[in-house]
Amino acid sequence: MKELFGKAIFFIKENPGIIYSLVLVLFIPIAIFFNTIYAVDRFQGNIDTITQTKAVLAENIISLMAVNSLDAPDQLQKMIERITLENTEIEKFEILVPNPEQNGFKIIASLNPENENADSFEIKNSLAWNLREGIANLNSNNNGRFWEITKIMLDENNQKKALISLAFSLNDSDALVDSTINHSYLVLILTVLVVLLLVSNQARLFGYALTLSKLKEIDQVKDNFISMASHELRSPLTAIKGYLEFFREKNEDKVDPESHKYLENISLSVGRLGSLVNDILEVSRLESNRIPINIVALDPRPIIIGSIQEIKSQAIAKGLELIFLPSETPKIKADPERLKQIVINLLSNSIKYTPTGKVEVSTKVKSKELLITVADTGIGISAEDQLSLFQKFSRIQNEKTRDVVGTGLGLWITMELAKKMKGNIAVESIEGVGSHFTIHMPLA
Ligand code: ADP
Repeated sequence: MKELFGKAIFFIKENPGIIYSLVLVLFIPIAIFFNTIYAVDRFQGNIDTITQTKAVLAENIISLMAVNSLDAPDQLQKMIERITLENTEIEKFEILVPNPEQNGFKIIASLNPENENADSFEIKNSLAWNLREGIANLNSNNNGRFWEITKIMLDENNQKKALISLAFSLNDSDALVDSTINHSYLVLILTVLVVLLLVSNQARLFGYALTLSKLKEIDQVKDNFISMASHELRSPLTAIKGYLEFFREKNEDKVDPESHKYLENISLSVGRLGSLVNDILEVSRLESNRIPINIVALDPRPIIIGSIQEIKSQAIAKGLELIFLPSETPKIKADPERLKQIVINLLSNSIKYTPTGKVEVSTKVKSKELLITVADTGIGISAEDQLSLFQKFSRIQNEKTRDVVGTGLGLWITMELAKKMKGNIAVESIEGVGSHFTIHMPLA
C-alpha cells in the first residue's frame, strides 16, 4: 500500500499535468453539485416568502371585508365557501371571536362547518390577539407543507374584533420546486458525465503528450548522434581522399592499368560516401534549425553564373550543353550561399539525369517573385513519382536511374532551404522528354 502510494506520488511529480485532470474530475462536479443545491434552496426560500406575502395580503383584504359582518356568521360562512371554492390552495379558513367566559376563542365561521361554534384554546390564537402583525407558521402535515397565518381583525376605530386564521397550502409550489430539483439533478448528472468524458479524453491526450515528449527526446538523441557520427566520419574521409590523391601523384607512372581502375573506383566510392555524409549532416542541421540563414537583397545573376561555372566540367564530361539564357534578373531577398546551394543542386540533378541534350537556366518575373528555371532534356519524371519527389530519401527506381548514384536527400534539402528563405520549388516534367525545376524567390 505504502509502495503504491509512493509510486503515485512519484508519477505525479514526474507528470504534474495529471493534477489538472484530477482537479477537473473532482472540482467541477463538486462545484456544480453545491451550486445546484444552493440555487434550489434559494428558489424554494423565495417561493415560500412569496406565498407568505400572498397569504398575508389575502388575509388583510378578507378581514377588511368581513369585519362588518361579524354579527352575521351565516354571511361569513357563505363568503368563506365562495373564496375557498375559487382558491383551492386555502386548506383552513376560520374566523374566531374572543370568548371571555371560556378564556379562549369561539369559531364563528369555518371552511369545515363541523368546527363552527367550537371553542379554541390554541396558544397561537392568544398570541396573535396580542400581536398587531399577526403570526405566521410554516407547518406540514400528511397533505404537505402549508403556511398558517393568524391575524387580528380591526374595525374602523382600530378596535380588535376577531381573529382570522388561514392555512395556505404550498403543494403547488413544492411540486414546482420538486420538478426544478429533478431537472437540476438531471443537468448535474449530464454535466458530470460530460466532464468525465472530457477527462478521459484529457487523460488520453495526456498520454499522447507524454509519448510526444518522449519521441522528441528520442528524436533529439537521434539528431545528436547523426550530427556527431557525420562529423566524425568526415575527418577520416577527408584523410582517405588526401592520401589517395597523394598516392596517385606519387605513383602515377608506376601504377598498372588494372590498379589504376581500382584507384578510380576507390576515389568514386569515397566521393559518394562523402556526399552522403554531407547530405545527412545537412538534413540533421535543417531539422534542428541549426542552419543560419542570412537574407539580404541580392542580384541573382552572379550567383547563377557562378553556379554554372562551378558545375560546367560535369556537363562537359557528359557532352551536355549548359547555358544561361539572357533574361531579366531583378534583385531578390535570399541568402546568397543557400541560393547557390539550391541552384547547384538542381543543375547537378539535371546533368545527372540527362543522358544527351542540354540544360538551360532562365529567369522570369511573376507576381512579386523571380522564377529561376533549370530546364533539361533528360529522362523526365512520371506524374506519380513527382508526388513524392521532395520527400526525404525519395529516389525513383527504374531502368534509367539504376546507374545514377544519389542519396534521395538533395531535393528535400533544396526545398527546405527555399522555404526557409520564404521561397518555393515547383516541378514540371514529362517522362522521356525532360524536366523543369523552378525556384520561386520573393522580389526585394
Ligand atoms: P538524388 O541524390 O537521388 O539525386 P534528389 O533528392 O536530388 O536525390 O532527387 C530525388 C530523385 O528525383 C532522384 O533520385 C531522381 O530520380 C529524381 N530527379 C531529380 N532531379 C531530376 C531531373 N532533373 N530529371 C529526372 N529525375 C530527377
